[in-house]
Amino acid sequence: MSRRSEILAEMGLGPVWRLKVLKQESFPVSLEKKALDQKTDWQDLKTRVAGCTDCKLRAGCTQTVFGVGEPKSEWLLVGEAPGAEEDRLGEPFVGQAGKLLDNMLAAIALRRGENVFIANVLKCRPPGNRNPEPDEVAKCAPHLLRQIELIRPRLIVAMGRFAAQTLLNTDATIASLRGRVHRYAGVPLIVTYHPAYLLRNLPDKAKAWADLRFAVKTMSSLR
Ligand code: URA
Repeated sequence: MSRRSEILAEMGLGPVWRLKVLKQESFPVSLEKKALDQKTDWQDLKTRVAGCTDCKLRAGCTQTVFGVGEPKSEWLLVGEAPGAEEDRLGEPFVGQAGKLLDNMLAAIALRRGENVFIANVLKCRPPGNRNPEPDEVAKCAPHLLRQIELIRPRLIVAMGRFAAQTLLNTDATIASLRGRVHRYAGVPLIVTYHPAYLLRNLPDKAKAWADLRFAVKTMSSLR
């Protein structure tokens, strides 16, 4: 224990601050300069994702989950990573969180696959649904970024911490990012809670509903 810590301990103050040690790759992962070749078209991108072994996740998942919807959708919804059901079926948000997402979309007169593209930051399932790790996001995010470049959505809705922090290159909380229009590569972006979080925190559903109404209003203002 350092002399300073000893004195603080004797005074009953304990450690009042802690040096934040940043690992070489920590969140938010800088995505600058990680973009894929501008010649990569939609089909190339699908093929690249399907064959990707750039990080350790591919070895432990059943299949990659590219996304669902038309490549020319006006809405782009971004989640975190496939879970067990998504890994089994090859489609994002098909488990419990997906059911909630479908209901939320229906409440604003939208349906998956109809002018709405749904994708995740990670295309492979992390084992046991653990959080994505910085190196996995760094390796996989260029796929999402190229999806955004090719889709050119009118509006992006980032659902949850990983999507928001990755796209906005920030470590700010969801609570502090909600209720404003951000931009990713010039595309308006709105932040909301992740549907899986909402399943565990029912009172925040009202906030997510407010976010969706805000997204609809923002979309209308863009037309
Ligand atoms: N959670 C996500 O972030 N994405 C999915 O596809 C499913 C659950």
